[in-house]
Amino acid sequence: MNATVDPKKLIKGVTGDWEVVIGLEVHAQVTSNSKLFSGASTEFGGAPNEHVSLVDAAMPGMLPVINEECVAQAIRTGLGLKAQINLKSTFDRKNYFYPDLPQGYQISQYKSPIIGEGTVLIDTPDGSTASVGIERLHLEQDAGKLLHDQHPAMSYVDLNRSGVALMEIVSKPDMRSSEEAKAYVAKLRSILRYLGTCDGDMEKGNLRADVNVSVRRPGEPFGTRCEIKNVNSIRFIGQAIEFEARRQIEIIEDGGTIEQETRLYDPNKGETRSMRSKEEAHDYRYFPDPDLLPLEFTAAYVEELKSHLPELPDEKRTRFIESFGLTPYDAGVLVAERESADFYEAVLAGLGNAGRDGKLAANWVINELFGRLNKEGQEIAASPVSTAQLAAIVDLIGEGTISGKIAKDLFEIVWTKGGDPKALVESLGLKQVTDLGAIEKVVDEIIAANPDKVEQARAKPQLIGWFVGQVMKSSGGKVNPQAVNDLLKSKLGI
Ligand code: ADP
Ligand code: MG
Repeated sequence: MNATVDPKKLIKGVTGDWEVVIGLEVHAQVTSNSKLFSGASTEFGGAPNEHVSLVDAAMPGMLPVINEECVAQAIRTGLGLKAQINLKSTFDRKNYFYPDLPQGYQISQYKSPIIGEGTVLIDTPDGSTASVGIERLHLEQDAGKLLHDQHPAMSYVDLNRSGVALMEIVSKPDMRSSEEAKAYVAKLRSILRYLGTCDGDMEKGNLRADVNVSVRRPGEPFGTRCEIKNVNSIRFIGQAIEFEARRQIEIIEDGGTIEQETRLYDPNKGETRSMRSKEEAHDYRYFPDPDLLPLEFTAAYVEELKSHLPELPDEKRTRFIESFGLTPYDAGVLVAERESADFYEAVLAGLGNAGRDGKLAANWVINELFGRLNKEGQEIAASPVSTAQLAAIVDLIGEGTISGKIAKDLFEIVWTKGGDPKALVESLGLKQVTDLGAIEKVVDEIIAANPDKVEQARAKPQLIGWFVGQVMKSSGGKVNPQAVNDLLKSKLGI
């Protein structure tokens, strides 16, 4: 990606500048009713071992059967990542012993994954767009879970997750700051949620990342990396990278070297800790699973899936910018979640003159509605203000019936008590006064009562703001500030 090094992203060490290099391996749980190789339910929150088939429990002689929906989900994801779709791929056994893995191996894809190289575009905080390469995406089984807190002397095993389909999405080492890594995960999560291939619920562990971090002097070859396992929040990913990069820089500046190792991030202490070194790394003895034929499908099958994909965030963002005149930033905020984008489009459709006030509507959705929802910790689906009500408020501002200030009061009333905004404006007498005659009287009175201020304003025209404020106050905010301003200017001769 970055041919040239952006000095803003460099980290200052004692002996000079350093560049951090980051690559992520994201595990995303596939949205499907049943598991990758069995018919058992993937439902979350069942009683322990409620959703376990004989295959998931690895009973002797049981054979895995591929779940077509999981394959389709992986292909959809590959298409969303603009990636190479491999019409033929293979499943391998990754052998290791762990009490929550009754098979003694995980079925995964090693040499020949279902999805090859792709790209994710990210919007970085400085407003530019960067591209992060995808190395591959492969399908694999999740393991079960050990429960250590149920019995004083024993650990229990819950196999509900055993065999649930995961997509491992491996990025290239293309990210150069914690901000880029966070933007990448946020964007990936957004794409998966649009596609409906993973719910992106990081709290439940349905999306988690292994974070690979190394540092180097700008322009030098890549340094040795450490891998921070299983980080399950975007904020923690950022914190783990910041800590890890500085830890590595300190070691190198003190004359040491980085050993490749696996580490864990401790969010309470804000630090990463060693888990195992490369010497202790497993040799998984991968080999093709003899119980499964190579996975093959046709280009026509891929085309069929492609034809049903929804509009994805990048395309939607471009359309919002081009069709509704939005800034890239506002468009990005609106398309991050499909529900927000849909809400915005429903507001637009409800306007008297659809699309006319695209920017105004975006401001109201983002600043007033989202702002208020955030404050209350509510989801957009639970918004007390409907798309039709918000459209009516935007219409009232757009056509000059109410001022922006009154509109905020009106929004507050609709939020707390509900009602039809147009009817409320009538019944509460909120209409903006545009009749200059009515304003003129007030303006004259204020000018007559404040000769000293008049002097000052003539000397320093910015002081006209004081007069505008007085007029607004005496009219209860219902006059059009621009009209007041114009009138005052002509009256004061400035
Ligand atoms: P392995 O096969 O040992 O798991 P990979 O080449 O698959 O290694 O890389 C795993 C992850 O580590 C990828 O996401 C990749 O981008 C990242 N990565 C590789 N080299 C580096 C490096 N020097 N610094 C940071 N990340 C790296
Ligand atoms: Mg790897």
